[in-house]
This record gives sequence, C-alpha cells and structure tokens, in this order.
Amino acid sequence: MKKHKICIVGGGLTGLISALVLSEKGLDIDLIVENTSSKNKDLRVTAISEKNLKFLKSTIKNINLKLFYSVKKINLFFEENNQIKNFLNFDEKKNLMFFFENRLIKEYLNKLLKKTKVRVQKKTIKSIDLAENKVSNNLSSQSYDLIVLCLGLNSPIYQKITGNREIKKNYNEHSITCYVKHEIKDIGAQQFFLKEGPLAILPYNKNKFSVVWSIEDKYFIKNQTIILNNLKTKLSNLLNTNKISLGKIQSYPLRMSLKKSYYKKNTIILGDGLHAVHPLAGQGFNLILRDIEKLYELISFNLKLGLSIKDSSIPRDFSDSRKPENLLMGLGIDTTRKFFRSNKYLDPIKENILKNFSKSKLLKKITKRVANLGFN
Ligand SMILES: Cc1cc2nc3c(=O)[nH]c(=O)nc-3n(C[C@H](O)[C@H](O)[C@H](O)COP(=O)(O)OP(=O)(O)OC[C@H]3O[C@@H](n4cnc5c(N)ncnc54)[C@H](O)[C@@H]3O)c2cc1C
Repeated sequence: MKKHKICIVGGGLTGLISALVLSEKGLDIDLIVENTSSKNKDLRVTAISEKNLKFLKSTIKNINLKLFYSVKKINLFFEENNQIKNFLNFDEKKNLMFFFENRLIKEYLNKLLKKTKVRVQKKTIKSIDLAENKVSNNLSSQSYDLIVLCLGLNSPIYQKITGNREIKKNYNEHSITCYVKHEIKDIGAQQFFLKEGPLAILPYNKNKFSVVWSIEDKYFIKNQTIILNNLKTKLSNLLNTNKISLGKIQSYPLRMSLKKSYYKKNTIILGDGLHAVHPLAGQGFNLILRDIEKLYELISFNLKLGLSIKDSSIPRDFSDSRKPENLLMGLGIDTTRKFFRSNKYLDPIKENILKNFSKSKLLKKITKRVANLGFN
C-alpha cells in the first residue's frame, strides 16, 4: 500500500507535537528542523488546558505526565489607584491548568521522536513550490502529499500562501519572562493586571514558578539594565515575601497576527504563523493544540476511508473549522488587553464591571469552559 508522504517544517512546539501525533497514523513523515544553537534555550513555561492535555495523552503513547504540573487555584487581580484588588478566583477540587517547561518538553519530544519512524532532517527551508508540492533548501527539493509549515510568527515563506492578508497589530510591548524560586506554600496561578502591563505567575513545581510580565517597549528600553531588580521588587510586593530568587531573563516582542488564509493547494500553515496572540491569557499554544487535534481528526478520517491525502479537502476543511474560533479568541484576547489598560474614561467604571463579573456564577462557568475547550 502506498504510504502518504508528509513534510512538517519547524522544530518549535508546533512542529514537534504535530510530527509525534501524526506519527501514530503510520504516515511517511519528514520533520525538517533548523540547526540552531543549543544556547538559545526556550526558558518559557506554558499553561495548557485539561482538554488539551487529554488530547496529548490520547495520541502520544506513554507520555510522561510528570512533565505537567497541575494547579487547582487561579486568582486574578487588577491595580487601581496603586492598590491591588482581587476580582476573580477559581479554587477547585479538580485540576484547572497544567504547566510545562518549554525547554524540558522540547528535549523530551525530540527523544520520543527518535523512537518513531519520523525522519528528522536538520536544514533550513528556502522555499515551497506550491504547484509541485515541493519543499526546497539550497541543495535539494522533494515533493510531498501534504506540507505543514510550522515556522513560527515571522517567515517570508508564508507570503505565497497568505498574500500578507492578516489582522495585525504591533503592541509595541515585550514580554519578559524568567524562572523564580520561592518558599510560598501552595501557590496557585495568578494574573495581575498592573498599570505597566499584565504579570502572570505560572507555577511549574512546588518551589518554582515562571513569571511573564508584558510591558511597553518604552518602559522596557528605558529600564533594560535594571529590569531584573524592578521585577524582583514588584514580585516581592505582590507576593509579600523577600524569599524569592530570579533566574535569567528572556524577552519576546509582542504582536497580534491573525491570518486570513490558512492553506494553498496541499500546503497548510500551523502554529504562531497562523495566529499569534497576546500571552496575557495563556491561550496561544492552546489554540495551536486544538488546530493540531483538528488536523489529526481530518487525516484520520481520510485514512479510515482509504482516501488520498494529496489533493484532498483536508486543507479546506481544516481552515473552515478552525478559523472562526481562532479569530474570535484572538480578537477576544485583544479586547481583554485593551480593557485592562489604563483608560481615563473606563477606569471609574472598571471596578464595578469586575465586581459584577466575579459575582456571576454563569460568567465564571463560561470563562472556565472557554479556557478549557475554546468555543467548541
Ligand atoms: C512570553 C510568552 C509566554 C507564552 N505563554 C503561553 C502559555 O502559557 N500558554 C499558551 O498556550 N501559549 C503561550 N505562549 C504562546 C506559545 O509560546 C507559542 O504559541 C508557541 O511557542 C509557538 O510555537 P511554534 O512552534 O508555532 O513557533 P516557534 O516556537 O517560533 O517555532 C518555529 C520553528 O520554526 C523553525 N523555522 C523557522 N523558519 C524555518 C525554515 N525556513 N526552515 C526550517 N525551520 C524553520 C524555527 O527554527 C523554530 O524552531 C506564550 C508566548 C510568549 C511569547
């Protein structure tokens, strides 16, 4: 029987997980990753929902669950007139979110890939021939039944597919992130909407959390040399403790990009290249996992019916089923960011809106559901 040939390009979380998940389907997969320096480790921590972890558990055999740290408590605060006010709490008996270290999960996924039949090739792709379904670098080119591009937010290779049609916004902000050691008992996930920008606390083991603080470029550039100290002072005040030590800082420029075209012929885009959203809600990779799940479902369906993958309706069905949610979520996160920014007209009524929000059991239930399942 002819094996379906798939090429996945990109060695970030999207490419690695797509390759592993699809490897379970007995496809002939090439995964192309750049030969990047191991010094540039991704020091972020990512929060994923229970539903997304369930998908990973069901598709990646014997996945090591110790890499996922669960929390049962999430608290949200906002700053007003130099005071920190709590406006929403989730304190549950069951696990609400799961956190993993990007660095460790990438190492682990690479190890797992070695046990599969996926061929990992180290090279940088220069172009895609959409008509011939070919992937090329400087030395060679090869054709496939389906090409999945997971090249991150910025790649000129997307241009031929998207024609630069996107909803975009440069936030003129950076997220700074680092690991923090602490001695606080039973710390949950926390989000502080501060006047400088949102600050999130993502626990990834009993005595360590990751902090993500999104701040304006102006503030970031002006305070670059003292940012670690500023962050430490901020955290000490918010958490009411001096017993914290901070690791190395990494920073990420922030922009929103919601692509309008998801595919052309037999080439699909996946990951940040399709939709990059503000990290304040920890939803970027959650949306990506739901995209991967949909692609997995569509490919499984075709295989079950013995249908070809080349020239199939998979790219179109994928785009039709995922674009509405990705668009809605991307714009919703952007609106949330705007709502919490200082605004002299909105500020006087913000507290009232938030008080009522926390009182409404229905709104709380909806928030929890959307964070877990998206708009499905
Ligand atoms: C500070 C911060 C915190 C975040 N926290 C969360 C969170 O808590 N929860 C959540 O759901 N999401 C979160 N996100 C979003 C999440 O991190 C991203 O959505 C995710 O990492 C995107 O992964 P990716 O593989 O699509 O892109 P990338 O990680 O950018 O990977 C792209 C890969 O493509 C490769 N590549 C590029 N061009 C080529 C080429 N020509 N040839 C071969 N390879 C190529 C690159 O080398 C790279 O390995 C956060 C984002 C930020 C910035």
